[in-house]
Amino acid sequence: MSIAENIHKIKSKIPENVTLVAVTKTKPVELIKEAYKAGHKIFGENKVQEMMDKKDLLPGDIQWHLIGHLQSNKVKFIAPFVSLIHSIDSLKLLKEVDKQAEKNKRIIKVLLQVHIAKEETKFGFSMEEIAELVQSEEFKSLKHIKVAGLMGMATFTENEAIVRSEFSSLKALFEQIKALMPEGFKEVSMGMSGDYKIAIEEGSTMVRVGSALFGSR
Ligand SMILES: *Cc1c(COP(=O)(O)O)cnc(C)c1O
Repeated sequence: MSIAENIHKIKSKIPENVTLVAVTKTKPVELIKEAYKAGHKIFGENKVQEMMDKKDLLPGDIQWHLIGHLQSNKVKFIAPFVSLIHSIDSLKLLKEVDKQAEKNKRIIKVLLQVHIAKEETKFGFSMEEIAELVQSEEFKSLKHIKVAGLMGMATFTENEAIVRSEFSSLKALFEQIKALMPEGFKEVSMGMSGDYKIAIEEGSTMVRVGSALFGSR
C-alpha cells in the first residue's frame, strides 16, 4: 500500500476528534513528502537534530511534534518552530522551554509526560507528582508555556488488560488535573501503532502512529 493509502486507512479508524501524529523518526524526507501530499501535516519526531534536519527540507506549514526525551540544552534549537512538545518530564525542562519560548516571543504548547508503564526505563513524572507540580508557585509563574494535556506510554506487552488499565488510569488522572487547570488543558496523548485502538477506547485525543503508517523501523 502507498503512504497515502495508509494515512487514509488509519484516519478512517480513528474518530475525527482524535488527532493523528504521524511518527516519522528514522524515515526519509521523501516519505514525509508523500504523507504531506496526501494532506497530512502533523508529524512527530523523537530527536531534535533529526527534526531540525527534516524541517529545513519540508514545507513550512508542517506542525512538528517532539515526542521523545528532550534534553534541556537542546530546547533552544526547536523553540523557534516546534508546535507541541509531548515529552516534558521535569520542572527543569519546563522552565527551559518557558525561557526559550520567551526569547522567541512565543507561547509553546507542551504535554506533561506521565510514567504509566510498569517498565523502569520510561521517562516521565509519576502520577502523584503531576498534581503537586501544577499547583506549585514555580509552575504557575511560567508564562510562555501552555500546558495542553498529558502524554503516556503503556507497557510494551501483548497483555491487553495491562495496556488498557494503564491508559484508563492516565485518562482518570487527566480528568483530575483538568479540574485544576485553566482552559486549553484538553489533550491525552496516548496510543501507538500497536495499541492506538485501545487508547482511543480509553479516551485518547491524540495518537502517535509510526510503523503502521510507514512500515517497521
Ligand atoms: C516511536 C514512537 C511512537 C510510534 O511508535 P510506533 O510503534 O512505530 O507507532 C510513538 N510515541 C513515541 C514516544 C515514540 O518514540
